Amino acid sequence: MHCPFCGDEDTKVNDSRLAAEGRQIRRRRECLACGERFTTFETAELVMPLVVKSHGERQPFDEQKLRGGILRALQKRPVEQEKVEAAIERIAHRLRALGEREVPSRQVGEFVMEELRHLDEVAYVRFASVYRSFQDIEAFRDEVDKLRTRRRREPLAGQLSLLGGEADAAGKPTPKGAAPVVGKPPRRSH
Ligand SMILES: [Zn+2]
Repeated sequence: MHCPFCGDEDTKVNDSRLAAEGRQIRRRRECLACGERFTTFETAELVMPLVVKSHGERQPFDEQKLRGGILRALQKRPVEQEKVEAAIERIAHRLRALGEREVPSRQVGEFVMEELRHLDEVAYVRFASVYRSFQDIEAFRDEVDKLRTRRRREPLAGQLSLLGGEADAAGKPTPKGAAPVVGKPPRRSH
């Protein structure tokens, strides 16, 4: 690597050893240009990527949420909890193995569907059908969130509440005694 002091491209490794019980490699380096010494640590990046939702919002990977979705699909299905946990572990492993800092939520959904297809076909169909409409619901919820934030930032007096919590100030009651209009029964002709 380049020297962090002078930027020279040529640095020499003087010593290399395991650190942190073998989870790290510690290297002592020396710059051949300026003579400075420094240490680098090499570790495997096992951080879960952030999940990017359809509207660009980033969220940390949430294993509980993943488990919740899988268990909902598996409700009353004869699948051992042990197998469910193994599936969750595989999904988390695959996400890490992508080596990306961010993955689209669609990718997580696809991994879940693959696992469910092996675990239980009924759960797979349940999840797949809910998943498609969930994409739409999620997009809708994002829109509502955006509206809510914008409204908080610039509250407009007299604006009707779309989001509930406040009653319509004008309070227009529905007219009483307004009988529903019902079509007259057809007159019988004899
Ligand atoms: Zn240097």
